[in-house]
Amino acid sequence: MTDRSPNGSPNAAPIWARHSRLRVVPPVQPRKLAKVPFVELADGRLQGVVSSGSDIGRVYVSSIAAGTHNYNCSTNNNRPCGGLYGAPCKHLRALVAEAVVQYGIDRVSRYLRVDVPEGADLADCLGGVHEPAPAAVVFSRFLRHLAYLEVPDTTLPIPELHWFPATGTVG
Ligand SMILES: [Zn+2]
Repeated sequence: MTDRSPNGSPNAAPIWARHSRLRVVPPVQPRKLAKVPFVELADGRLQGVVSSGSDIGRVYVSSIAAGTHNYNCSTNNNRPCGGLYGAPCKHLRALVAEAVVQYGIDRVSRYLRVDVPEGADLADCLGGVHEPAPAAVVFSRFLRHLAYLEVPDTTLPIPELHWFPATGTVG
């Protein structure tokens, strides 16, 4: 059985993809969907779905509240993220980074009501504490988002769908 790709690591983002914005800064950059398949500014939160760094089959629901910056991260089954020990985990940092790519740092910082000094990382400027928040709402929005993606004649791979062999159960 050779069902293991030698280069199958989900973390294998090419180096140019991580550093491309050092060269050009377009208002909206292409997103790496495989890492953060869903991000939105909604319900007074920056929230979204982040793939596990180690297990391609697992996703985390991460959120940061506007104003307080209190944050939460758990699996879609509401199991607390093991990376939350008094500080935002790597999923939350990935979520913030992806939101900046998606919406631009001005819009994200305005929405969260955070001051980001020139050149600083937005994630380093948040001052919240861990506060449990239900993952189910965000996750169901993600599933609805996936349903929108089920366009009839796409020839492109849709990384989001790889986690959900049974997406047909939605709706
Ligand atoms: Zn986490």
